Amino acid sequence: MTEGTGFLLILSGPSGSGKDSVIRNIIARDDKTVVSISMTTRAPRGKEVDGKDYYFVTKEEFQSHIDNDEMLEWAQYGSNFYGTPKAPIEKWIAEGKTVILEIEVQGADKIRAKNPDIMSMFLLPPSFHVLEERLRKRATDSEEDIKARLEVAKSEIGRASDYDYIIVNNRLEDAVEDALEIIFRHRRHLRESESQDEFYYGHQYKELQVDDYIDENARVLPPIEDFSERGLK
Ligand code: 5GP
Repeated sequence: MTEGTGFLLILSGPSGSGKDSVIRNIIARDDKTVVSISMTTRAPRGKEVDGKDYYFVTKEEFQSHIDNDEMLEWAQYGSNFYGTPKAPIEKWIAEGKTVILEIEVQGADKIRAKNPDIMSMFLLPPSFHVLEERLRKRATDSEEDIKARLEVAKSEIGRASDYDYIIVNNRLEDAVEDALEIIFRHRRHLRESESQDEFYYGHQYKELQVDDYIDENARVLPPIEDFSERGLK
């Protein structure tokens, strides 16, 4: 019954929005969802393990994977390169898996350019202040790196409206619940193409500014026509 229900799901969000925790919890709760392991030229952080969190490679190795057309997408983030190896993805999709790509906005653009129907979610921290606190608590990055990540985060937040869903990670359990509901709904839609289920993708969102935010009880931000009701400017 899994045939035809495999799909790719992009998850983006600024560094510190909690993408890793959300993904870990989704995978623990849903054995049909897997996460693509990216390749990066940055050094391992804290307890990160090669082949589990990332494939850590040199710039030369990274370049050779690009030259051999082995990357689905890649992007530069700060001074490092990050990319999605192609090989495992097709196999997972054929097996009916939901494959999460945890990637930044440029990589998402590249994949969307080739697959306009791809499903995507953007994870927002409840406020910019909280994001800053989370990055500082992590204490594995240098002050310079934290500042650079905050700058990147500002411009990334402005891109949230390009995603099908915007989930606010206020309480981790809620964010996981919301993401799972979206995944299940999409899977059901693929399984029952004649389904009466409402098909939620392609929402139109208001462009977000960093200090726009955000209703502290917001979970999945409503599409544009609902914004006035939620008290968002
Ligand atoms: P970090 O250094 O915090 O692990 O990741 C920095 C950024 O790179 C995050 O926004 C993360 O989503 C993104 N990233 C991780 N893997 C990939 C990838 O394979 N491709 C792209 N485009 N971005 C990635």
